[in-house]
Amino acid sequence: MADYDLFVIGAGSGGVRAARVAAAHGAKVGIAEEHKVGGTCVVRGCIPKKLLVYGAHFAEDIDDAAMFGWDVPEKRFDWAVLRDNVLAEVARLEGAYTDTLTNHDVEIFHERAELAGPSSVRLASGRTVSAGKILIATGARPLMPEIPGIEHAISSNEVFHLEKLPRRIVIVGGGYIANEFAGIFHQFGCQVTLVNRSDVILRGYDQQIVDRLLQISIKKGIHFEFNATFERIEAKADGSRSSTMTGCEDLESDQVLFAVGRRPNVEGLGCDAAGVAVGEKGEIKVDDDNCTSVPSIFAVGDVTNRVQLTPVAIREGQAFADTHFGGKPTLVDYGCIPSAVFSHPPLAAVGMTEGQARNKLGSVKAYISDFRPLKNVLAGRNERSLYKLVVDGHNDRIVGVHMIGPDAPEILQAAAIAVKARLKKSDFDSVVALHPTMAEELVLMR
Ligand code: NDP
Repeated sequence: MADYDLFVIGAGSGGVRAARVAAAHGAKVGIAEEHKVGGTCVVRGCIPKKLLVYGAHFAEDIDDAAMFGWDVPEKRFDWAVLRDNVLAEVARLEGAYTDTLTNHDVEIFHERAELAGPSSVRLASGRTVSAGKILIATGARPLMPEIPGIEHAISSNEVFHLEKLPRRIVIVGGGYIANEFAGIFHQFGCQVTLVNRSDVILRGYDQQIVDRLLQISIKKGIHFEFNATFERIEAKADGSRSSTMTGCEDLESDQVLFAVGRRPNVEGLGCDAAGVAVGEKGEIKVDDDNCTSVPSIFAVGDVTNRVQLTPVAIREGQAFADTHFGGKPTLVDYGCIPSAVFSHPPLAAVGMTEGQARNKLGSVKAYISDFRPLKNVLAGRNERSLYKLVVDGHNDRIVGVHMIGPDAPEILQAAAIAVKARLKKSDFDSVVALHPTMAEELVLMR
């Protein structure tokens, strides 16, 4: 008899879901977490980031309020207040996640765990436990390139804890995190320079939508340096940083934030000892059933480097638990996954970009609505939204929806249902507009 039916390493989104559901199915479950219960999303990712996005947006809302008749005194932002409130909310959520596990009789080990064999796990305290099945859900961590002075830069792990707001910040990368924090720090009044190794940002998103973000960001005052490669960072006596690059003049700043991707957490995990195969990027290789090269060991979430998104990790954890402990074999459907970038303004997408659709389908129709939201008109804010429907020319099916503008992610979630359900452009056309909204543009494109 093993000590546990299931032992989970890592209490992030995927691990917590798998542990809780397996326990609800009647399994005896243990879970180890070396940091905080909740993982990247709750502790140093999606949730605290979104709260900072909300906090940042007030900068524009307060400015816009004047045209709506509000007498607004001079605005002043206190970083320490927002930071501490966000961290308090993170602590509350960590408690809620812990309660979820304990309420399901999942035993939590607040320590590091490593694989000791196909059915055993060694805990940092020295104890070794046995388990019928082991689930690796250790997530990923920010990639920090090995350049001289990298220790003077921060990652998205540290950004939520800054002592004070930097007057000038250099953000390295052109992906999700770089663009989201460029917007956040800019709204807080920092001087932001985004440095990217190529001239392509947000690779994978529709080009027109990305171009609109770039245009709006530049107009707001975010500075971009493209085709620049980082060489070294020096710390100056006054605490500032000097960054040297090829393809760009030296940049002086108060912080340098690296956001150049995330790497699976497999170091020291004992994959070799247990015989678990690891891929080129350090990802744990799994089959469609989340099973590794060892039949008793499974993996879900960012550590498998499939789709690095929280809701996907949660689905994988749920599918694993239902399959192996609930008698309900379940495969995750990776089709039509909606995604969003919480930039200022945010963008969101589901399905194929126009370019992808043209390559794959040949005959494609693209419908575009380029409009200035009503609220922006009265506020005198010259920022236009862009919505795009990508339609299969052979059968009228909507194969992609792409949007940038206020609340785009909120609106896109509903549109994603239509794409997943393989609805046609004529189905959208048949729906009466809900007026006056921004979302009505989705059913008014002709
Ligand atoms: P991304 O993968 O989004 O972007 C990485 C960026 O860094 C790209 O511009 C890439 O350029 C560049 N880059 C990659 N390697 C290097 C390097 N060695 N030196 C310089 N530049 C480099 O990574 P993020 O760190 O922004 O985010 C990590 C992941 O976290 C995302 O992929 C996403 O899955 C998830 N995430 C999701 C969010 C959301 O859903 N809103 C928010 C935040 C994170 P190139 O394009 O040329 O490769």
